[in-house]
Amino acid sequence: MSTKKSSQEAEFELAQSRLIEEIDKEIAATQRYTGIAKLSPNVRNALRAVPRHAFIPEYQRSAAYANMPLPIGDGQTISQPYIVALMTELLQVDQHSKVLEVGTGSGYQAAVLAQLVEHVYSIEVIPNLAAQAKARFAALGIDNITVREGDGHLGWPEQAPFDAIIATAAAKTVPPALIEQLKPQGRLVIPVGEHWGPQMLKLIIKTADTHTTEKDILPVAFVPMTHGDQTH
Ligand code: SAH
Repeated sequence: MSTKKSSQEAEFELAQSRLIEEIDKEIAATQRYTGIAKLSPNVRNALRAVPRHAFIPEYQRSAAYANMPLPIGDGQTISQPYIVALMTELLQVDQHSKVLEVGTGSGYQAAVLAQLVEHVYSIEVIPNLAAQAKARFAALGIDNITVREGDGHLGWPEQAPFDAIIATAAAKTVPPALIEQLKPQGRLVIPVGEHWGPQMLKLIIKTADTHTTEKDILPVAFVPMTHGDQTH
């Protein structure tokens, strides 16, 4: 048993190294759109530190290190690793940052951020997913993520302001509460567009109390950000 397990761990490690090389290539190939030529070393290290297979249902684990989104149950998906890397890089966080995530899902994106920042607050609308993510963080010994059930459109006013906010579900328009809850110079990375339609990943920087700048990064396909009373 234990030898089998360790050989599987070794396989995962190899697959993860290949995945990170693939992400590097895709980041370089999309520089024209994103403005990012390469991942910073701390973001690469964070990707390396988090075992993606631990965030994926058992029957999908062999695909854990493929550069694609995967189903995680409840009609939701864990984002493509390249997108996780890109969004993490765009947030420009450091060890003092306080970050809000809308859409905990599997918890993978939050776990990557947790390697880089002081604390991640993450909101998930589907109770079952919130509970599973909490259990994963506990099992992995990650203690700087707080998960709450709720509607992320409203942000997390009790913990605001945030240095950075990431939404991993697509909003029809940018929720005003998320801008309000950013610190000056804070960054919001969010997919905006129609549910199951064309969406644009946007980087919004709060330059002053009432001012923001907005940059379109890349066309993307995220699951919709639902309101509390609907799940699809
Ligand atoms: N960051 C996740 C990606 C999950 S997909 C990961 O790394 O796995 C997006 C998630 O957003 C889904 O779990 C979905 O249930 C959640 N979601 C959708 N609308 C939401 C809302 N209004 N508030 C909070 N979470 C929401």
